[in-house]
Amino acid sequence: MTSQVDTLLHARWIVPVDAAQSVLEHHSIAISQGKILDVLPTDQARQTYTSKHELELTDQLLMPGLINAHGHAAMSLFRGLADDLALMTWLQEHIWPAEGAFVSPEFVRDGTRLAIAEMLKSGTTCFSDMYFYPDVAAETATELGIRAQICCPILDFPTPWAKDADEGIHKAVEVHSAQRHNTLVSIAFGPHAPYTVSDEPLKKIASLHEELQIPVQMHVHETAFEVAEAEKSGLRPIARLEKLGLLGPNFQAVHVTQVDDEDLDLLAKNKVKVVHCPESNLKLASGFCPVDKLLKAGVSVSLGTDGAASNNDLDLFGEMQTAAQLAKAVAGDAAAVPAYEAIRMATLSGAECLGIDEITGSLESGKAADIIAIDMSRLETLPVFNPVSQLVYTRMADKVNHVWVNGKMLVRDGLLTQIDIEKLKQQARQWGEKIRAGDNND
Ligand SMILES: [Zn+2]
Repeated sequence: MTSQVDTLLHARWIVPVDAAQSVLEHHSIAISQGKILDVLPTDQARQTYTSKHELELTDQLLMPGLINAHGHAAMSLFRGLADDLALMTWLQEHIWPAEGAFVSPEFVRDGTRLAIAEMLKSGTTCFSDMYFYPDVAAETATELGIRAQICCPILDFPTPWAKDADEGIHKAVEVHSAQRHNTLVSIAFGPHAPYTVSDEPLKKIASLHEELQIPVQMHVHETAFEVAEAEKSGLRPIARLEKLGLLGPNFQAVHVTQVDDEDLDLLAKNKVKVVHCPESNLKLASGFCPVDKLLKAGVSVSLGTDGAASNNDLDLFGEMQTAAQLAKAVAGDAAAVPAYEAIRMATLSGAECLGIDEITGSLESGKAADIIAIDMSRLETLPVFNPVSQLVYTRMADKVNHVWVNGKMLVRDGLLTQIDIEKLKQQARQWGEKIRAGDNND
């Protein structure tokens, strides 16, 4: 007797990202109703299950879809607009003026579509976003079938989406309520940074975060300058956030390049989730997140690309490689952040950060079928002694063959199944021309 399942995948290798750090050989995954029903040896799978959609993934590896825990998706339309500048010059003289001139619901829809297409093609099945018009980003992610956490931006000063922090908070609660039944997309508060949001709105966010169980994501300790400026008026930002009642397991601190002993204590004690964005930190010369030190103190660290305007791509495999290499240099220890740990940071730790590790982040029965298949037969991936090594230390984004989210195939043989890529490219070129001309009159 065999039972019928929706999809049956037979793979040469499976990296499930489990506690035992397994690498399974000649195993299969049975998928039913968007979920992983079983992970078992292929010879047993052939006796146990049948399916109309049975894929022989010879020389391919299955692993959980990657989770990009921090970014600004629509900023893909500003990719390459201003490079080689320090963070504050880049923000104040280039990014904020361009946002003031061009950001609209249409900009966010088109930019988010561009980002989602790039992320799916390179193996990302879930992303966290922080940008204006989060309602539009939530709709776009839902429409394209990718999992997401959408953080509503909150700043003291006027933005294209809200006139001040109070309006931002109010609108965030509305977006949260409108999306509460969405199983693919969750909503979080996105107070931009300690230097752009004052105490009163932060207190309000802390109480709503507690009452409505809405997570908070914030750029924190991005540069030494940010911390030094804050210290002039008393507290380091992490200490100030703890005093305001914001730190806790649902607080996601992005960047964290400056960590003294007291910061480390507060992060560990409050079970704060840290999101490390190594390539953005390197490009903006923001500093080095002490990943090895955080992990050894028991702090969960996940990975993000940040926006394409400061990276300049959304390739999380590349981020994983940079994170593993940089952690070794920063710790002065080649054993820091070994390959399997780097993969965990890009998958299960990302799910823990976003509070969805019961749903996704590893390949285990009962979890959503958020899976990617990778071609291990290319020149630069051979020979294969340990596939985990290739996943982290060689170029992998262009070897993603198939991508499933909730069991739905969104990339097949490297091609997007739901998105018209030529139309998307045409829109990106049109926005590029408009932004270059500085013309926002239509
Ligand atoms: Zn950011």
